[in-house]
Amino acid sequence: MEKIPYKTYLDEAEMPKAWYNIRADMKNKPAPLLNPATHQPMTAEELSPVFCDELIQQELDNDTPYFPIPEEILDFYKMYRPSPLVRAYFLEKKLGTPAKIYYKFEGNNTSGSHKLNSAIAQAYYAKKQGLKGVTTETGAGQWGTALSMACSYFGLDCKVYMVKVSYEQKPFRREVMRTYGASVTPSPSDTTNIGRKMLAEFPGTGGSLGCAISEAVEVAVGSEGYRYVLGSVLNQVLLHQSVIGLETKIALDKLGEKADIIIGCAGGGSNLGGLISPFMGEKLRGEADYRIIAVEPASCPSLTRGKYAYDFCDTGMVCPLAKMYTLGSSFIPSPNHAGGLRYHGMSSILSQLYDDGLMEATSVVQTNVFEAAEMFARVEGILPAPESSHAIRVAIDEALKCKETGEEKTIVFGLTGTGYFDMVAYEKYHDGEMSDYIPTDADLEKSLSRLPQID
Ligand SMILES: *Cc1c(COP(=O)(O)O)cnc(C)c1O
Repeated sequence: MEKIPYKTYLDEAEMPKAWYNIRADMKNKPAPLLNPATHQPMTAEELSPVFCDELIQQELDNDTPYFPIPEEILDFYKMYRPSPLVRAYFLEKKLGTPAKIYYKFEGNNTSGSHKLNSAIAQAYYAKKQGLKGVTTETGAGQWGTALSMACSYFGLDCKVYMVKVSYEQKPFRREVMRTYGASVTPSPSDTTNIGRKMLAEFPGTGGSLGCAISEAVEVAVGSEGYRYVLGSVLNQVLLHQSVIGLETKIALDKLGEKADIIIGCAGGGSNLGGLISPFMGEKLRGEADYRIIAVEPASCPSLTRGKYAYDFCDTGMVCPLAKMYTLGSSFIPSPNHAGGLRYHGMSSILSQLYDDGLMEATSVVQTNVFEAAEMFARVEGILPAPESSHAIRVAIDEALKCKETGEEKTIVFGLTGTGYFDMVAYEKYHDGEMSDYIPTDADLEKSLSRLPQID
C-alpha cells in the first residue's frame, strides 16, 4: 500500500474552532425568508416565537465569515469528532480505477448520521436562552434521534413529531429516541389543529415531512418556553455542518492532497452544504476550483427538475416562505421510495450556488443506489445509509470514468451515516422487490402549479 494512511484523524488541537459561513463569500446572497402574509423579509422579531434568538442571528447573518464554536459544543464534539477521512483503497481496487477515492464518515455516533453536529448546537442555544424544551419533526428518524441525544445532554425536553409511516416501520428508531428521553408522536396526530385537519381530510394517511413540520411549529408557538428546531435546509444548519468540510480540508491539506471532485447526497442540503463550504469558499474567492456534485433521488428531484421559486416549507403553510429549488410543498414522493432525501425543497444557499452555475446536480434511481451501497459494504466494511449511498453511487461512476480515461483524479464524498435502521429497504432490494419510480412531468406540474405567487 501507499504511504497515505487508510484513515486520517485530526489531533484535538487541529479541530476547527469556528464554523464557516459560506454566505459571507457569496456575491449573490441566498434570498431571504419571507413572511407568508406580507411577502416582506422576515425580521428577527417575527422569527422569535418560532426559533431560538441566537440561531435567528445566525440565520439572518449573510456577512460574518466565522462564528466561534462555543466551548460546550467543542467539548461535546470531542466525544465523536473529528470524524475520520478514509481513503477507500478497497473500493478503488475493486473498481480497478486510477482515481483516489476518499470519504468523510459521519456515521460514527449513536444517532448514526451527521445530524448531531447541528442538533447539539441548536440544543445549546435553546438551553442558553433558558428554554424548557424544543419541538421538531423527523422523517426517517435520524434527526429526531440526534436531537434527542443533544437535548438529554443539556437537560431539555424534546417533543418529536415523526412521520407516521416511519413511526410504524421503524419502531427501533422510536425506542432510541425514547431512551434519550424524547416523546415521540406519530404525525398527523390529534394533538394539533393541522394534524386533526389532515386526519379528517385524509383518513389513514401515512403523513409527510411537511405536515410533521406544521405540527411541531404549532406546538412550539403554543407552548411557553418552547421553540422549534429544524435539522436541515436552514442557513444556520449549513453553518453548523461546515465542521464536516473544515475537518475534511484540514485533513486533505495534511495529506498534501487536493480534491478534484466533491460529491454529496442532497435532501435538504445540510451535509452537502457543510462538506463543500470551505472548498466553495475558495472557489468563490477565486483561489481554487473544484467540481462539486449534488446527488438526489430520481423520485424526489428538486434541483434537477424543480423550479427556483419561493415556496412554503411545510404543508400547513405556517412557516416562512423560502426561495429554493422546489417540487412544490404539496409534492409527495412515491411511497416505494425508500432512500430518505424526501424533502420537496433545497437549502436556499445551495439553490443560489446551483443557480449561479457553481455546482452540478444529478439524480439516481434507487436500485442503482442500493447496488452501490452493497458493493461499498462488501469492500469497505461500513453498512451505509441509503441516503449516503446516493453519493457512493456517483463516486463509483466518476471513478469508473477515470478508469476509461486513465485520469488519476481525487474524488471526495460524504458518507453521511449508517443504515442499520433501513434493513427493510435492503431486504426489498435483496428480494428483488425494489422498484424505481420516476415522477412524470405531469406529476410535477401538479404540485408546481400550486406554488405561491410572489412578484
Ligand atoms: C438527513 C440525512 C441526509 C440528508 O439530509 P441533508 O440535509 O441533505 O444532508 C443524508 N444522509 C443521512 C444519513 C441523513 O440522516
